[in-house]
Amino acid sequence: MAQTMHCYRHPKRETRVSCATCGRPICTECMRQTDVGIKCPEDARLPRGARAGAMKTDQIARTLLAGAAVAIAGAVLVYFVFPEIGFGRLILSALAGYSAGIFIHRAGGRNGGPFAMTVAGVAVVLAFLPALLIPALGGGLPVRLLLPALVTVGFAIYNSR
Ligand SMILES: [Zn+2]
Ligand SMILES: [Zn+2]
Repeated sequence: MAQTMHCYRHPKRETRVSCATCGRPICTECMRQTDVGIKCPEDARLPRGARAGAMKTDQIARTLLAGAAVAIAGAVLVYFVFPEIGFGRLILSALAGYSAGIFIHRAGGRNGGPFAMTVAGVAVVLAFLPALLIPALGGGLPVRLLLPALVTVGFAIYNSR
């Protein structure tokens, strides 16, 4: 039989129930029935995004900042440096995507998940956009950049998951 505990909000009340999130014992009056089990009033009130495993607000902010940094630095590099590189373009794309993915993953507190992957993917697409669009407006889409762009996006998403 489970050990008798005392409600953390009512120390005189005995209970055998504890919160599914924080583990603190709660009495029948305090417990809240949620879709993921019994919780204390504090944890039952928290929005979905604040639960364990999801990113906190500052991690989301850092992920977005990292994504913006990748997009801006990447756009400059891809536009000015990339067309000069002939041999090894795909390997460099893979490395750049890998680095961007790891960078964004770490910025988000190593939580990864769909949000980090989306930011990584969008950041790399934005990085390639000027190099693809500016020549395309002039009438010639740089087809030779399409495959490296796809490789970079793929690596960035994979490594930020
Ligand atoms: Zn709790
Ligand atoms: Zn209580």
